[in-house]
Amino acid sequence: MLILEQRQHSQRQDTQPQRTLTKAITHIRLLEVNPGKLAALDTLAPVYLALCQQYVTLFCTDESPDKFRAPCFATPLSERWHRVAIQQAAGIAKSWRTNRANAYQDYLDDLLDYHEQEAEGTLDAQAEAPVWKEWDVPTLHQTCIQANVNVVALEPSQDSTFDYWLKISTLNFRKQLLVPVKLANYHREQLIDPKTGQVRKLNTSVTLNKRETGWWLTISYDETVTVQNEPNAPIIGIDVGIANFLTTSDGKHYGTFHGKLRERQKRDREKRRRKAKLRKCLEKKGVQKLPSTSSKNGQRLTRHVKQEINHAVNQCFAEHSGAQLAYEHLSVATMKHKARAMNAYMRASNLAHIPKQIAWNAAKRGIPATRVKSAYSSQECSVCHYVDRSNRPDQQTFCCQVCGYETHADLNAAINIQQRVHDAALAACKDRQAVKSLLMQRHAAWKTQHGWP
Ligand SMILES: [Zn+2]
Repeated sequence: MLILEQRQHSQRQDTQPQRTLTKAITHIRLLEVNPGKLAALDTLAPVYLALCQQYVTLFCTDESPDKFRAPCFATPLSERWHRVAIQQAAGIAKSWRTNRANAYQDYLDDLLDYHEQEAEGTLDAQAEAPVWKEWDVPTLHQTCIQANVNVVALEPSQDSTFDYWLKISTLNFRKQLLVPVKLANYHREQLIDPKTGQVRKLNTSVTLNKRETGWWLTISYDETVTVQNEPNAPIIGIDVGIANFLTTSDGKHYGTFHGKLRERQKRDREKRRRKAKLRKCLEKKGVQKLPSTSSKNGQRLTRHVKQEINHAVNQCFAEHSGAQLAYEHLSVATMKHKARAMNAYMRASNLAHIPKQIAWNAAKRGIPATRVKSAYSSQECSVCHYVDRSNRPDQQTFCCQVCGYETHADLNAAINIQQRVHDAALAACKDRQAVKSLLMQRHAAWKTQHGWP
């Protein structure tokens, strides 16, 4: 980390592209100096939530999300609050629409994959054709207000007892709520820029969350990171998996779900099974109070897996400073497939943490990281581009049925991912089918070029 920063400073600053990262400071509790002080906010919450929900529904069904849409629902809220609700609803609807579209594309890819296997006769006996289930429009359960300065203003406090004052417009016209904000020491430390020793400039928008425990505030600041852009920086491809969390195209592996994690997971599953059995037994005997099925161990294991992933990603970054990275876009279908292939030890959500961690670490360190298409990255031969399921005789081995290239399966995939960084033709492919025909064209060209019969 330190080395990286020093290097960036020695480069000419004016030619370096900058990237802005928004960092949040969360879990700041709103103080209720005297009882009932936040009552006005409590009154506002359900009204805001209901209005926001109306626009979410509108933007997810009849209209496309538009944060500048003219108000069209009646509300006791001020025009400014109304605008905030529309803006937040548009954001929610937009990401819902994107996620739904991605999931639908995954489903189509999954379906194609299923029919391919069916035609090849390689379908598992228990395999079932994927089914699309239409998504429900999101329902807002908890009050979360993404407010701008027009309705909630954060101002530094002049006296030393508090850090800030939060000025909140309420349902009562021209009546503002003034709430003191006191930061914890670790919040204050986070706010000091280590480079200058100065307090960072806060963004004007804040988020207010209402929980059972009261109101919580999130503030944020922007940090600019200089992006390394040496044109000759080597590209390192990263394959994501379970046997190896990360495999790089230079042949290194980082982290694994085998060994300790797998043992823990097995123990956890056994425990849950025993508990479920016991519940059934007690239920039959008419016992009213049954032992809970929720698994504290399971949650601990998930946390532990995430820590192991973070560790593996950090190590990978540390050993590849100065490189630019490429990683695959993991679709839900691909993750399910990868998890299924390993007997589903690992929940797909855990696997999804890996690309997220790669993206975050790259952003934080100003390292260029490109996400590439993952279609057929594990079946394509990185030498002759031949695509075939049978190139993978088992989980670990890649062995090309045409040119005979043989290597670790994850390494072959990592090399493919590396090669896809500047591959515009592949990036332009609309779906899996298009990727496959492009790769097979390249394979045909390779055969001609190498005088293959
Ligand atoms: Zn080959």
